Order: sequence, then C-alpha cells, then structure tokens
Amino acid sequence: MHRSGHVGIALLFVTPLAFIVATVYGIEIGIGTLALGVSASDLPDRDQQIPGLSHRGFSHTVWAALVVAGLGGIGGFFLSTKMASSPPIPIPGIDTLVSIGPILFAGLTALAILFGYLSHIVGDILTVGSAYFGMDIKPLFPLTEASVQLGIAKADSMMWNSIFFVLGVVATAGVFVFN
Ligand SMILES: [Zn+2]
Repeated sequence: MHRSGHVGIALLFVTPLAFIVATVYGIEIGIGTLALGVSASDLPDRDQQIPGLSHRGFSHTVWAALVVAGLGGIGGFFLSTKMASSPPIPIPGIDTLVSIGPILFAGLTALAILFGYLSHIVGDILTVGSAYFGMDIKPLFPLTEASVQLGIAKADSMMWNSIFFVLGVVATAGVFVFN
C-alpha cells in the first residue's frame, strides 16, 4: 500500500475514536486525535531508514505497535505536564487539553497512535506480499512465524490506493460534518 492508501485506512481506523473524543472534548481535540493517528500510520515503514531492521520485520508486528504507542503515551504524559493553559501563541483547544490531565491525555495519545499504527499493518496485510521477497507480514513474530497476507490488492495499485483514500476521507467527513 502506498501512502494514500495507508492514510485512507488510518482514517477508517481512527475516525471512531476521534469522533468519541470530539463529542466529549470538542472538535479541536478530535481533529488532533485524527492527525496523530494518521501520522502514526506512517511509522512502520520508517524501518527502511533504520539500519539493521528488515523491511516489514519487527516494525510490522503488534508488539511494535504496542511499544510505539506506549512510548507515545509516555511522551504525551510529560508533554501534558508541561502544557500551560495560556501559551504565548494561542492554540485552539489548549484549555481542554490542559483540563484533561496527564493520565487521560497519555491514554488518548497512546490509543490514537495504536490505532494508526495497527491500521498500517492491516493495510499491508491486504496487499500481495511474498515470502520470496521477505515481504510477508508476521504480526505476532516471534511468538509465531505465521504470516498473514490477504493479497487482495497490489501495493502499488493506483485503484486500491485511491479506493481506500476516498473511503477514508468520505467516512471521516461524513462522521465529522453530519454529526
Ligand atoms: Zn509497511
């Protein structure tokens, strides 16, 4: 899956959480949740920039998703303790963010990252992998070597990338505009 396809699938994954957050804490925080989740969906493929990591290796496991989400949550916690309710530059929703408190903020950060990250792995599972090229996704490695590959879409398929992108955008717009 290319970036557009991954963004679409990430939107589908994160929109329900973002909608709940928007309903409870306001639209700014909901959009922030969405943006964070979509950004996190790009992280697994950063394995290509880290020497020693094989592409679609550990970075494409559920464990990596949990580790990254956990680290994000810890980062969120400390960020939240540093947030001031009246920053020098006005930030929309900052008062709400401060009032959420560090623990809840950490939890929301971790969840948004987790959903976005997992959406990437699901996106890659949908594509045609190949053990020959070492491109199979083994989401529970090393617990089990079992690889999961649905192979319904070619990673570079213009059609599938567009379909997922449009589906994600339409779902997100539908949820946010019509509620
Ligand atoms: Zn990937």
